[in-house]
Amino acid sequence: MEDKSYNPFVHAQAQFDKVAAIIGLDEATRDLLRQPMREHHVLIPVRMDDGTTKIFKGFRVMHNDARGPAKGGIRFHPQETADTVRALAMWMTWKCAVVNIPLGGGKGGVICDPHNLTETEQERLCRGWIRNLAKEMGPCIDVPAPDVMTNAKHMLWMLDEFEAIHGGKYPGFITGKPIEMGGSLGRTEATGFGTIYVLREALKDLGIKPENTSISIQGFGNVSQFAARKFSELGGKIAAVSCWDNADKTSHTYFKKDGLDVDMLASITNTFGCINKEKAVAAGYEILPGDAWVEQDVDILMPAALENQITSANVNRISEKVKVLLEGANGPTAPEADEVIRARGIFLLPDFLANAGGVTCSYFEQVQSNMNYYWEKDEVLERLDAKMTSAYRAVQDLARSKGLYMRDAAYVIAINRVAQAVKMRGWV
Ligand code: GLU
Repeated sequence: MEDKSYNPFVHAQAQFDKVAAIIGLDEATRDLLRQPMREHHVLIPVRMDDGTTKIFKGFRVMHNDARGPAKGGIRFHPQETADTVRALAMWMTWKCAVVNIPLGGGKGGVICDPHNLTETEQERLCRGWIRNLAKEMGPCIDVPAPDVMTNAKHMLWMLDEFEAIHGGKYPGFITGKPIEMGGSLGRTEATGFGTIYVLREALKDLGIKPENTSISIQGFGNVSQFAARKFSELGGKIAAVSCWDNADKTSHTYFKKDGLDVDMLASITNTFGCINKEKAVAAGYEILPGDAWVEQDVDILMPAALENQITSANVNRISEKVKVLLEGANGPTAPEADEVIRARGIFLLPDFLANAGGVTCSYFEQVQSNMNYYWEKDEVLERLDAKMTSAYRAVQDLARSKGLYMRDAAYVIAINRVAQAVKMRGWV
């Protein structure tokens, strides 16, 4: 995010244009799918605890809803931009399509740093965002969910505000709710677990036993923590994780020679995925520079934080040992770095396939909320595994049979599905 020249929307459009050319998409469909169908920019006045009022800027972008109501998270981030939200909304369209769930793509954001907001200020911000957008969203229109620095508590405040405005109970309006309040069992784990379900399948195809592998992960938020737990269950070793340290205003990589203890580290991590450095040092962890996660001698590298993290500046520091790049974040690999990954023959599990477990489980949550009948956790996770595994299989089969890079194969499947929907609806 520090790189001012990087624009995620330019990145997302370039990926789309390339595959649109490969599949020979007609001009009207290209024009429709390479930009959002609609977007809202809102100003949110928030009464702060000290009595002053601050104005926050928020967004909701709906990229495409041909396959169903738009779906996608809302992020709180100080560097949020309209183009970041546009890119993320577009990636949501492909994500829902590649796992074949009947939803479109959307994304929201507010420019803010929740580290500096009290609980009550965060609540007023959530309610303010909804007040601005309540008429534009809804269970059959556009359905938000958590993302970077937002969580179940935020989702419930948003739902409560939406229900107050519309005068009824609409639990299917938002996903990632607390379990006690209409959330789905397994939703918290879903994105992280989903990444490891596809990794497990990829390792089978590569003839590698998970118990002989190690992983280095960027980030220690919701996605990484559950990915790390599932990966440990498969017998793999977690060599390193990195995270942002808000007190030091920089990130650190945490390393332990014999592997990390995920539960212990999670117990000293705050809700923003920031590990307590002093406690980690006391527990024998070595602190390395924030970008050291990228140069570890591991089999699997997993960026699971923000976009534009593997770039031309650090891609050549990736160890010769790395066999798989597992993209837990959205858009973590910059286009120039992607070329290097492809040329080196590192097996790629592309973002909108690898991290689709979150939205897939959100879809299950919406189904349960709309029925007002909730499933057991094992049932949720079994269905999630089945969806992720079959999506991976379809992408891998196409990549192998047509000699395509995994990212391009995932795009071919997703774009074809959305293009078919817009044609069947008679839009183009
Ligand atoms: N924010 C998550 C993502 O980027 C989940 C979205 C959702 O559940 O709607 O995939």
